[in-house]
Amino acid sequence: MSGIYVHVPFCRKACTYCDFHFSTSLGTRERVLAGMQRELDLRIAELDGAPVGTLYFGGGTPSLLPAPAIAALIGQVRRLAPLAADAEITLEANPDDITPQTLEAWTAAGITRVSLGIQSFRDERLRWMGRAHDAGQALRSIGLVARAGLASWTIDLIYGLPGMTLAEWDEQLSTALDHGMPHLSAYCLTVEERTALHRQVAKGLVHPANDAEQADQFEHLTARMEAAGLVPYEISNFGREDHFSRHNTAYWQGVPYLGIGPAAHSFNGAKRRWNVANNIRYAEGLERGSTYWEEEQLTPVQRVNERLLTGLRTMWGVDLRTLGTDLLEQSADLIRISVERGDLLVRDDRLVLTRQGRNFADRIASDLFLTDDR
Ligand code: SF4
Repeated sequence: MSGIYVHVPFCRKACTYCDFHFSTSLGTRERVLAGMQRELDLRIAELDGAPVGTLYFGGGTPSLLPAPAIAALIGQVRRLAPLAADAEITLEANPDDITPQTLEAWTAAGITRVSLGIQSFRDERLRWMGRAHDAGQALRSIGLVARAGLASWTIDLIYGLPGMTLAEWDEQLSTALDHGMPHLSAYCLTVEERTALHRQVAKGLVHPANDAEQADQFEHLTARMEAAGLVPYEISNFGREDHFSRHNTAYWQGVPYLGIGPAAHSFNGAKRRWNVANNIRYAEGLERGSTYWEEEQLTPVQRVNERLLTGLRTMWGVDLRTLGTDLLEQSADLIRISVERGDLLVRDDRLVLTRQGRNFADRIASDLFLTDDR
């Protein structure tokens, strides 16, 4: 199986914390859509005929696209590649785009899963984040998505907000659970460079949650999700058994995927490629046949390190037999110390983070990284 990711680089407003590639102008939309269709035609052969198990419209805000444009892209994938009969086809959507009519049009187009960018159920938080929706729209959209007859749906929430208390976070999780969500992606607010939030923090106007507050909120999140029957299958992702994101799980397990659209990344098992993060240069590249991407051949060391970084974040961990003797020899002491400290365990030849270790997933993975000169 393989996957296709389509990056839709348009948003209604710029959220203060966001460093994804997007434009708030729709002026290039038709050219970008034409470019995506051309790119699909040109690159589908890179999947070597493997059935497409997942198709993911991310962004940006894919729900800003007219439903016929989404249907056209799905139809094109169907014509070009063997799309699995039970393919997971996800659309990221913002609450202000959810109506009974849009949901009906998306399901008719083939969307099987909607990922709803709720982020918070509180008006003052949504205003602070610069989101285009309010709390009323957040609640209404969940109700509509839950009743839309989709195979699955999920919501995004953000914790670690300035001044957020455990009580506020608990209230957010309760609201989501009360609506019967089968899947949650919960992200800790991070201050990325070149964002409005970064400038506010640099001026001392905003003080994000400290490490201890973030860790408390993460612990609480995991405990509440487990108590509600949602499995913490990845650091930021919780789902009922049959609602795990198949697209993201394949990505974490190193399955090849094709990335279409401005700023989209691709991986073919050995090489990473990323398209230019500029709508006009992307469209021009496809119109003129000039280069609109860069690529990098991964070294064996980089491949091992990527497997560690993504695999350790999941509940399946990393298969030690696939990491090679270099890592096992060179990191044996570090692995033993982490096991003794209670951060890691070895189970069925797999290296898995413990509950305690999940608090430091990225640091533990990078401690184990191979370096070229070791
Ligand atoms: S809607 Fe999503 S992609 Fe767009 S600016 Fe906000 S967080 Fe970023």
